[in-house]
Amino acid sequence: MNCPRDGGALTAQRYEASIQVDACGRCGGVWLDDGELEAIQASTERDYTRELERMDELAGEVPKHGTAAKCPKCGSEMAAREYAHCSRIVIDVCPEGHGVWLDGGELKALEVFFEANKQRANSEDDALWVARSFWVSLKGLFRR
Ligand SMILES: [Zn+2]
Ligand SMILES: [Zn+2]
Repeated sequence: MNCPRDGGALTAQRYEASIQVDACGRCGGVWLDDGELEAIQASTERDYTRELERMDELAGEVPKHGTAAKCPKCGSEMAAREYAHCSRIVIDVCPEGHGVWLDGGELKALEVFFEANKQRANSEDDALWVARSFWVSLKGLFRR
């Protein structure tokens, strides 16, 4: 597969012990197959407590692109969608459901966003609700 931004080769990289992503060495973007984002969200290996305070800053650091990326699997033009509600993180989603493209910095911003919401949830019910709303939101991304 090749990077939808600059055509660079995507190479499989271990993101965390159990998760592999395809990353571009040129721009730092990553491709996540359908389901991989869920695995990263569920993972608790990294601690982003300190970065939470920088959430607004991190979202602002994510580069903005004017042109649509093309799915490295099928070549379809991907749809840019804001992830979850008010995350301010825009990710590119394959309309055929192959996966999502995250530009350099977006994966980290998303992890911090997950963590922020986990910490805001102050009961187990809230935590479940937050987790579920993420997936409802992501499924919504795949709909046209
Ligand atoms: Zn690239
Ligand atoms: Zn595709």
